[in-house]
Amino acid sequence: MNLSQALRLIRASGVELVQKGDGFAVRGGAAERESVKPAILEHRAEIVTRIRAGTLACKSCKRVVDERFVCWTCQNRPCESCGRPTGSPFIANCDPCALGVN
Ligand SMILES: [Zn+2]
Ligand SMILES: [Zn+2]
Repeated sequence: MNLSQALRLIRASGVELVQKGDGFAVRGGAAERESVKPAILEHRAEIVTRIRAGTLACKSCKRVVDERFVCWTCQNRPCESCGRPTGSPFIANCDPCALGVN
């Protein structure tokens, strides 16, 4: 299982990883946390490295998001070209980039 598959599995189970200092906290019910523990442990080092690099946690709510940086809680996604919020998880590029006016 690669990291993005693991993050998808974790989110699907209802467990949330949230940035906490230099690492992360695991939020969710005990049974759910237990069910995704192997996936979390397998990718722990990579998750921490990417959190520290600022490439895995949502800038607003600190939740660990996926490789596209989509935060389903904030309903936002950074533009794939310039990094500005596009305003929707379903939109990959902001208006100026989509229209090519940048
Ligand atoms: Zn967020
Ligand atoms: Zn853009």
